[in-house]
Amino acid sequence: MSAAPGTRPHVVIVGGGFGGLWAGRTLAGEDVDVTLLDRRNYHTFFPLLYQVAAAELAPADIAYPIRSIFRRAPNVSVQLAEVVGVDLERRVVRTASEEIPYDALVLAPGSESNFFGVEGADRYAFPLRWMDDAIPLCHHVLRRFEAAEGATGDLRRRLLTFVVVGGGPTGVEYAGALSELVHGPLLRDFRGISPEEVDVVLVEAGPTVLAGMAEELARYAIDRLERRGVEVRVDTTVEAVTPTEVRLRNGSAIETETVVWSAGVRGDPRVKEWGLPTGRGGRVPVTPELHLAGRPEVFVVGDLAWLEEEGQPLPQVAQVAIQQGKHAAANILREIRGQRPTPFRYRDLGMLAVIGRNAAVAEIGRSAFTGFVAWVIWLTIHITWLVGFRNRALVLVNWAWNYFLPRRAVRLILPTSDDAVRALAPPGRARVRPPEDGGS
Ligand SMILES: Cc1cc2nc3c(=O)[nH]c(=O)nc-3n(C[C@H](O)[C@H](O)[C@H](O)COP(=O)(O)OP(=O)(O)OC[C@H]3O[C@@H](n4cnc5c(N)ncnc54)[C@H](O)[C@@H]3O)c2cc1C
Repeated sequence: MSAAPGTRPHVVIVGGGFGGLWAGRTLAGEDVDVTLLDRRNYHTFFPLLYQVAAAELAPADIAYPIRSIFRRAPNVSVQLAEVVGVDLERRVVRTASEEIPYDALVLAPGSESNFFGVEGADRYAFPLRWMDDAIPLCHHVLRRFEAAEGATGDLRRRLLTFVVVGGGPTGVEYAGALSELVHGPLLRDFRGISPEEVDVVLVEAGPTVLAGMAEELARYAIDRLERRGVEVRVDTTVEAVTPTEVRLRNGSAIETETVVWSAGVRGDPRVKEWGLPTGRGGRVPVTPELHLAGRPEVFVVGDLAWLEEEGQPLPQVAQVAIQQGKHAAANILREIRGQRPTPFRYRDLGMLAVIGRNAAVAEIGRSAFTGFVAWVIWLTIHITWLVGFRNRALVLVNWAWNYFLPRRAVRLILPTSDDAVRALAPPGRARVRPPEDGGS
């Protein structure tokens, strides 16, 4: 890796999520100049995003300004910028306004929701991928309750039916949290709505939820979800989403205005336009040292990277991104020192999912935990990895509040009208039914 004479090597990092953040932290204070680019000015702690969508936590509780994270690292500069291209030959990254040259590049732009080509899903379902998704989803749910109070018949039933698609950890966690929100604070406030009128349905195409975890953990999760009032439908494939229903492959349909999509993620298709090779799931194949084949100066980490261990691709989870971000940065430093880069090995710290108060599942090594013990493990790990002391303190206080006084503080509906929500939605996404169709 070579830098221009008299200058330090310049490392550009794209993305301040888990991979990019930890690459930057590893390079902080080293003899390199680092530019970290992100289209958002904050780092998001995604494992708690579903709690923002379920009115349990405020957005600021799980996000932290990236500039603040690096305020004591003079060799790391942070820029709010969307990367729109990469020129691998000229070694420059392009944003809308400039070209930024690099000696080494770490690409960590994450993934995006995968709708698997299901008709209408990208337009009418709410993805649960970014903060920009979680906030409108939370407001939409609150607004359905407001609208339902004055509605009758089919419209009322549709307004009070919530469908979560995908029985992975995010779907299970959101279905559980949504049910707790509905059956706790909302039904207490909406005295004209009875519990029997509200349906939370979790739809999973496979034979069980939490695929990849031990069977008894999946069974426990289904049991606890059902006890909390969630209807779990496995072996059920969604064929289409419309503004008023979810159509299933078995020929039936569920009338609803709220479909939450948590069925999986894929690599951002835009990286193909950047000239990067993409493979399965839109992910970019990397060498064991985490760089592009034939491009030892370009590293790809996190959700976007495709790397197999023992014949299986590494999962798209935070620990893979964190460990890869650190490893890519360490390899950059090794190359600068004239040493050979080393191959990456993933250290699996286990899998966790929470269903609700006192109910979680955890698989750590060969041990499996359920119930209160798993819930405490889950709380401890999430608090430990959350960025920022203030956020940790606020989240702990909020959780304690919700635990002892399940009232949920975050229930303001903003913006004020559905029109304003529509104006905020990215092009191509309706997400909120037009009022003339009978919605709020
Ligand atoms: C709702 C949800 C819940 C999850 N729960 C868990 C969990 O409980 N446990 C777990 O281990 N994993 C969980 N994950 C997965 C985990 O969050 C991801 O695997 C991890 O965030 C991937 O890290 P990354 O660095 O690759 O990307 P990300 O963390 O997604 O970061 C990507 C960053 O790149 C930025 N970016 C993207 N494109 C551009 C561009 N063109 N220009 C500039 N910036 C760009 C984005 O703004 C973002 O800040 C969850 C994910 C989601 C969505």
